[in-house]
Parts: sequence; C-alpha cells; structure tokens
Amino acid sequence: MHKVELNSLTLNEMEEFIYSIDEKKYRAEQLFTYIHKNRGSRIKNISVFSITLRDKLENIAKINNIKIFKRFDSKIDNTRKYLFLLEDNNIIEGVAMEYKHGITACISTQVGCKMGCSFCASTKDGLIRNLSPGEMTNQIYMMEKDLNNRITNIVLMGSGEPLDNYDNTLKFLNIIHDEKGHNTSYRNITLSTCGIVPKIYELADEEIPITLSISLHSPFDEDRKRIMPIGKKYSIPEIIEACKYYDNKSNRRITMEYTLIEGVNDRKKDSDELVRILEGLNCHVNLIPLNPIEEFDQEKSSKINIEKFKTRLDKANIPVTIRREMGGDIDASCGQLRRRYTSSKGFKTFQ
Ligand code: SAH
Repeated sequence: MHKVELNSLTLNEMEEFIYSIDEKKYRAEQLFTYIHKNRGSRIKNISVFSITLRDKLENIAKINNIKIFKRFDSKIDNTRKYLFLLEDNNIIEGVAMEYKHGITACISTQVGCKMGCSFCASTKDGLIRNLSPGEMTNQIYMMEKDLNNRITNIVLMGSGEPLDNYDNTLKFLNIIHDEKGHNTSYRNITLSTCGIVPKIYELADEEIPITLSISLHSPFDEDRKRIMPIGKKYSIPEIIEACKYYDNKSNRRITMEYTLIEGVNDRKKDSDELVRILEGLNCHVNLIPLNPIEEFDQEKSSKINIEKFKTRLDKANIPVTIRREMGGDIDASCGQLRRRYTSSKGFKTFQ
C-alpha cells in the first residue's frame, strides 16, 4: 500500500488528511509541529498521540527520512558540504555556509538535472528524479541537527532545477515558511532558475516574496544557447520581460547570476551588452568565477578580467558583487561532490 508521506504535506493538506481518517483537526497541527518545529522523524515517538493513534498512523503513513552520508569541512572558512543518502539509496548534496548574519543552507531540489548546462556537474547524468517536499525540508533539518544551530537563510541552488519540480518546490516553500513549523521568512529564501519563462510568471502570481535569481551567464542569445540548452526555448528578452513582471508583482530585486568563463562571456562586449539588456530592471548582478569541472573544457576568468568586468558594471550603476568562493578547498559546487563520490566508489543510484 502506498503510504502518505507526512513530512511532504502542507498544514492544509495535513488537516485534510487528518479529517479523512476521522481524527480531530488539532491533531494536524500537533503532527505538523512535531515534524517541522521539533524536527521529529518517527511516528512512534510522537508522545502527544496515544499508542493507538500512532499505530493507526504507522499503518497508512510514514515520515520520509534522509541520512547524512558524508560531511566535508572547509579548513579555510566555516563551510560544510554534505552528501545525503535518500531512502532509495540516491545521493544528493547540500551546503551550509556560516556568515555573520546567520547560516545559509544551499539545498537540492532534484536528483540530477535535465537542463544540460555545459559547465554544471549536476546535469551530466541527466535527471534521475524529483525530490519530495519532505526530502527538501529534511536537508535543512539534518544540517541543523548536525550544526546544533538554526538555518536562517535558504537558497535553492543545489542540484536540480526548482522550476522543473514546480509543485514540490512550492509545497516546500509553503511548509518551511509556515509559522507552525520552521517559520522561515520568505524574504530569506532565494530560488535560482536557468530561466523557464512560463514558470517565472506562475511563481510571480503566487505572490510569495522570495528572491528570484536567474542564471543568465551571457547577454547574447547565440552564446547563451551554446552553454545553456534552455536558451533555445526561451530567449533573453523573454526572460527579462518575465523578471520585470516578477519585480512588479513581488517588489523584490532580482539577482542575475553570471558565471565568468574565460573568453566565452567575460569580454568587453559581454559587459556592454549586459548593461544594455539590464537597463530599467531592478536587479543585482552576482559574478561567479567558474568552478572548473572535468567535462567542460574551459577556464575561469582571470582575477583581472573579473575585476574589469565588475568595474564596467559599476560604472553603469548596476549593483554588482563577486561571489566569494566558499569552501573552495572541499571540491566544488553543483553536483561535483556527488558525482565524484558516486562514480569513484562505484556507488549505484536508482531510478
Ligand atoms: N538550476 C538552477 C539552480 C542550480 S545551479 C539554476 O540553473 O539556477 C546554481 C548556480 O550555480 C547557477 O547559477 C549555475 O549556473 C551555477 N553553476 C553551476 N555549475 C557551475 C560551475 N561549475 N561554476 C560556477 N557556477 C556554476
């Protein structure tokens, strides 16, 4: 029998579920709080429920758990990278980064990814499967238990394309924001996308004030298509239009991520065109030095070129920062850790 995954239910869905099994409504809140406030993971340990109710629940429902499989600690900053083991033996990765203002968790939304960006390790084996909302919240709770501290900020920038797993990502946002649970402010959450335009409009219409981050990586459609296949489906002007719509609806400044690749997108004409296309958009540009991966035969831009690129945007009054390379000594971003581990150890992942 298919068991209901309790930690993937929003509070509303939990109420419907509790109603459907003839229990009192307040049980839903108790259950939700046990899972999402107390980070509880076993139905049999829900002490506010009678043994009879726990047995009844165990027959029809489950809490999906993940384990920390490995942790890698940076020696140069307080970054920790995690490999998590899912119940079906798939492996995903997450990162916890300590800043002065709190701890940011970067989590995955899919096992693998089908978007095919040429510089990204997460996509090299394609999409294996979507993560459930409970598997997303669990990455946060497992890091919190491990760090014995609260995660204050969340970025959906691990492996996977969140807008390609739209419904589960939306449920995750609803659950993690709920004041009866983890109670994370939407303003402390960033969703990063390669630019699936119709979904950006849909997200804007949800009217939840999270920060939208676009992986732009080139201002020219022809060049972007070469490194990001999604560019063949949605053009840069379409993305910019969708961003304006998002900004109008949410009143939130958009982040433009721009991974600098030597000779590919770090030329003067790239910065000039970037300035031109971003005119009038309430945005901030985040320059990311490329993290070289085996499968992509290109180098990161030199420090000098990165600085020059930044200066040209500064001069045009476009807010711009260079992303610090957190945990640079522990392998790198976006699926490299998982990939290295799963291929070198002969570790099988399952569909
Ligand atoms: N699918 C989403 C989120 C995951 S990737 C997206 O495309 O935005 C998070 C960010 O890391 C994206 O901007 C992505 O383009 C960037 N990235 C991926 N691989 C990288 C690499 N090797 N070096 C630098 N940035 C990389």
